[in-house]
Amino acid sequence: SNQQLLNQQNQRESNARSYPRRFPLAIQEAEGVYITDMEGNRYIDCLAGAGTLALGHNHPAVIKAMEKVLHDKLPLHTLDLTTEVKEQFVDELFSSLPVGFQDRAKVQFCGPTGGDAIEAALKLAKTATGRQSILTFQGGYHGATHGTMAISGNLGPKKRVQGLMPDTHFLPYPYDYRCPFGKGGQEGAELSATYIEQLLDDPESGILPPAAMIFETVQGEGGSIPAPIEWLQEMRRITKERGIPLIIDEVQTGIGRTGELFSFEHAGIVPDAFVLSKAIGGSLPLSVVVYDRDLDAWEPGAHIGTFRGNQMAMAAGTATLKFVKENNLSAHAKQMGEKIVQSLSEMQKNYPQLGDVRGRGLMLGVEIVDPSGKAGKDGSYPADPELTSRIQKACFDRGLILESGGRHGSVLRFLPPLIITEEQVDTIVSIFKEAVAASVA
Ligand code: PMP
Repeated sequence: SNQQLLNQQNQRESNARSYPRRFPLAIQEAEGVYITDMEGNRYIDCLAGAGTLALGHNHPAVIKAMEKVLHDKLPLHTLDLTTEVKEQFVDELFSSLPVGFQDRAKVQFCGPTGGDAIEAALKLAKTATGRQSILTFQGGYHGATHGTMAISGNLGPKKRVQGLMPDTHFLPYPYDYRCPFGKGGQEGAELSATYIEQLLDDPESGILPPAAMIFETVQGEGGSIPAPIEWLQEMRRITKERGIPLIIDEVQTGIGRTGELFSFEHAGIVPDAFVLSKAIGGSLPLSVVVYDRDLDAWEPGAHIGTFRGNQMAMAAGTATLKFVKENNLSAHAKQMGEKIVQSLSEMQKNYPQLGDVRGRGLMLGVEIVDPSGKAGKDGSYPADPELTSRIQKACFDRGLILESGGRHGSVLRFLPPLIITEEQVDTIVSIFKEAVAASVA
């Protein structure tokens, strides 16, 4: 039963384990957008491996690609030696890049986690520039290794680990609902850009010429917060004018989730480097840094590791990338996302507890607030993590898995597989409506 396996897990596994922490289930099987627990209860999986499962669980195209590797008796582990499977993966990846970047791109296999690839990108930028300081953003999330923890915003786990990466500078992210400048929208985003530009040009700011600026175009774990398109363009201009490499963390946003294959495409910009993991491995572990040849200052062995030649992951990744492109799942994600946002926005009229509905594509969030609390200068109400948990539990009891995130754990995040159908979206919305109604009463 669920409980039996959960008891074993609780006794034997470290308490530091990752999400989803709050759901009392063990998984028996999974297919498409559904997972089934040990007692036969079925759930719609709106967490999808924290955004990993672009094609859902066990997609036939992914399974077929993995079976072929086994059937053909291809090597499963090759370190950094190349194979046809690997070169096909790189073909598929490079042909997906925006024109103009295709001829300039190099790829570094990492891994195989997102965190390792972010580490690689930071090291690459430091090597290329000979500088050390890193510009990062409040509320961002980039991983849980020492370096990635240092550049991530969430303080909880950080406070207890001394000696993280020095010379890390946190800048204000254009978080519309709780704007660091007290004004949301276009004006808040402009103020953020102006402030950052001023800081970079003032020798007294203490920011040495930085080795890199890094951000997510939509903060994921930080609470599904999309940066305005104009702000992304401003960051590209500001970094380019000052010769600062721009690294975009596409670990969660990449491969169609936001409505474009790569999320920076919304802004028509190209970073100096970007990082992919999660969806790029088609549900198996794989991560890469794609970067401009201008940054290519690495000596052999500069970023090494054992588990980079995972042929299954590359085959699954190639199949995923192909499927997303051939079936235009980016456009589908945009459409389905808009449909969810529309329904949730309508709900806000009746439920002021849904303080903010936001996101891009199928990377959405609802910030749950306490409207009886004191509103901030920007009109935002205090976060209500307690109500968030109640809604989350009510969703779970009705067969919907929604993870919470955000600085106060008060954002319910919608990250379904990109293959989600319109009908399934209707089910998600109707379960969510019932859960909210039952929880606020
Ligand atoms: N960057 C972003 C944007 C992420 O969402 C995550 C994982 N949630 C990571 C990096 C770290 O990836 P991993 O957990 O594979 O190290």
